[in-house]
Amino acid sequence: MGEKEKEYVAEAFATNWVAPLGPNVDAFEKQLTTYLNVDGVVSLNSGTGALHLALEILGIKQGDVVICQSFTFAASAFPITYCKAEPVFVDSEKDTWNMDPALLKTAIDDQVSKGKKPAAIIVVHLYGMPAKMNEIIAIAASYGIPLIEDAAEALGSTYQNKACGSFGSVGILSFNGNKIITTSGGGALTSNNAELISKTRKISAQAREAVPYYLHKEIGYNYRLSNVLAGIGRGQMEVLPLRVEKRREIFEFYKNELSAVKGMYFPEEPTGFFSNRWLTTVLFSKDVWEPGTNEKVRVSLEKLNIETRALWKPLHQQPVFEACTAYNNGVSDELFETGLCLPSGSNTTRESLNLVVSEIKKCLV
Ligand SMILES: *Cc1c(COP(=O)(O)O)cnc(C)c1O
Repeated sequence: MGEKEKEYVAEAFATNWVAPLGPNVDAFEKQLTTYLNVDGVVSLNSGTGALHLALEILGIKQGDVVICQSFTFAASAFPITYCKAEPVFVDSEKDTWNMDPALLKTAIDDQVSKGKKPAAIIVVHLYGMPAKMNEIIAIAASYGIPLIEDAAEALGSTYQNKACGSFGSVGILSFNGNKIITTSGGGALTSNNAELISKTRKISAQAREAVPYYLHKEIGYNYRLSNVLAGIGRGQMEVLPLRVEKRREIFEFYKNELSAVKGMYFPEEPTGFFSNRWLTTVLFSKDVWEPGTNEKVRVSLEKLNIETRALWKPLHQQPVFEACTAYNNGVSDELFETGLCLPSGSNTTRESLNLVVSEIKKCLV
């Protein structure tokens, strides 16, 4: 937390705006709209809910195919199933670890040839690294398929100087406790389409019609963000640039200290890509390190109460999605087999970072 979060939360109590609407919600949405430079933002109670509404407002229905990046957290794809649509997974490319544009095109062509033109594409900026948006946007546009941008991990990242979360037909953000800024739990939907924004506002609040009694012509949800939690979000937005700076410093520190160790690889930003470095990730190259080195390091550090984690297990490998079609190239499989997330919290001290580095070096001798 920064300096101001408590103040805005106290304001909610003092004014009795303890409700899923109010001045903190309005101010938080305005900050996000300005920061992302989009037409509209609706704050919601989770990123998962935001993705669900993104699919709903785009008219995704039972039996539709929705293409989703395979290398991501399961929450990117779960909402596809809430709509009874069919997730189809596309693997990553090696530069950004995000959706491979060439494989995306293959997947669309193959689905089209089966008479199942995809109804939407969900692209993710994983660990804060922007996906290859020019290529992906061009492919989506050429087939006329709406693009949903899962920027849950990428608030503060930019691609060609434009904010992640502002590219898609619809974008989503998360303010879950583990993200770069948090409201403890929360999310948002962003768009440059005013109609989609007003539709989201309506269905996120039980789809009430604008008449003096309770009239409902469509299905609604209760997905709004509390005005109390939006107070935390307001304060967090004021420190977001500092958080990005800190996370990037942590990445640079690990990279400087460890990239001299043979076979340790830290993902670079291609030109025009700016990552918030939400989590520092590292690969133990297969050419140098035997399979399982990432897990060996994790277990050794765990004994010292230092938590590291495996990279996201690709969704095409998840039992819950085992019946789904997947277009694979082996990239995300190898990332999962060789990668590790290092401690990256914004409040990690230099002393802790030094300890992590020296312990990793010890495991690798
Ligand atoms: C966290 C996350 C989500 C879900 O957000 P919640 O606010 O936790 O529901 C979706 N996609 C990705 C990539 C995430 O990391």
